[in-house]
Amino acid sequence: YQLIHISTGDVFRHHMSQHTPLGQMAKSYIEKGELVPDSVTIDMLKNEVNQYPDVKGFIFDGFPRTTSQAEALDQLLEEKGETISAMIALEVPEDILVKRILKRGETSGRADDQSEEKIRFRFGQYQTKTLILKDHFQKQNKFHGVDGVGSIDEITQRLTAIIDTL
Ligand code: AMP
Repeated sequence: YQLIHISTGDVFRHHMSQHTPLGQMAKSYIEKGELVPDSVTIDMLKNEVNQYPDVKGFIFDGFPRTTSQAEALDQLLEEKGETISAMIALEVPEDILVKRILKRGETSGRADDQSEEKIRFRFGQYQTKTLILKDHFQKQNKFHGVDGVGSIDEITQRLTAIIDTL
């Protein structure tokens, strides 16, 4: 699809590995499984987006995660004469996610992947701060829930079936 993939989690982890001031600031939140404050996250996202002035589009992965972030994204895109085409949510039962993330933790080196307690704390953050965005995008007819249980091929097909209608 020639889209640029921006994962805010990956960008934060890159800053952490380079020991930049942003990485040092974000580290304590990320290791606890809390969201990094909106102002920091939004500034970082804008900075990333502005590095690609001539692209066809973006896949934002793990962003927006709060109402303020969604509003900031709408405003940023509006300034560029663009809009969000779709919000795609991969839906997976929590017990399966715990197993997947613990497995990932064996090789990811991520502090936040290492215990069921930390993983469940992150689900709590999702429930209280992010889930509300389903409404935000449903009101705009942009929300698409996708069953995230299955093989990589099956899930890829479910995703492309949606993207191809946009
Ligand atoms: P992820 O790689 O998407 O699982 O994100 C890992 C961690 O990075 C999250 O638990 C947050 O601490 C932080 N993070 C990533 N994206 C965001 C965001 N959009 N807003 C706030 N914090 C974020």
